Amino acid sequence: MTTTKGLIIKETKVGEGDKILTILTSELGKIQAGANGARSYKSKLIAGCQLFSYSDFVLTKKKEWYRVSSAEPCETFYNLRLDIKKLSLATYFCDLICEVATDGADGGDILRLALNTLYILTKNDNLPLIKAVFELRLMCVSGFAPSVLSCAVCAGQENLTRFDVSGGVCCESCGGVKISAGTIDALRHVCECDLKKLFSFNVSKAVLDELSSVAENYIVSQTGRSFKSLKYYLTISEKMV
Ligand SMILES: [Zn+2]
Repeated sequence: MTTTKGLIIKETKVGEGDKILTILTSELGKIQAGANGARSYKSKLIAGCQLFSYSDFVLTKKKEWYRVSSAEPCETFYNLRLDIKKLSLATYFCDLICEVATDGADGGDILRLALNTLYILTKNDNLPLIKAVFELRLMCVSGFAPSVLSCAVCAGQENLTRFDVSGGVCCESCGGVKISAGTIDALRHVCECDLKKLFSFNVSKAVLDELSSVAENYIVSQTGRSFKSLKYYLTISEKMV
């Protein structure tokens, strides 16, 4: 028997009323667990086994397979379900976490970032900023941090005016796309600050546009993946401006 707190980052329906959950935990990293009957409205598991639920789990383990015995929700981030843009962005965030979190490794930093970000997302409507900040910071806490204090190529600290998706900020002579000083400041804040201050900063529209482009291109380059949930979010964001 194992007890752990965890955030559900993926749910797959199986059989008549069961689910397989992917859960991000601090101690066990990313795990998969079967939740028998969790789709039945009569089930005690129903509230604690929804996508985005952060729950107290009691798990039993048989060979390499976990099964959920009980799940008491601590936070369900229910408001995300009332806004299609927020819901689709949160789904993309969870897909990203699924991609970078590893089984068995410490998942504490990613979990804290995920919980903070989902909380902010329920309260704040600046979705482009939340998206860019989460993308960059997730890369930092999962071992793919971009260089932000010195050139990613030559390690020089002068004339940092560019960004290259293969490594981060670059100097004038080492290449990458041109970015403004404001965007470099924002990158440094997002990658280096204390988690508590992560979302406490303001940027101009021009810096936000540049930061968004840098963050999304960096994610695509570092993970080597394209995400359906990202495409969906971008499509509905364009339609619902
Ligand atoms: Zn350089």
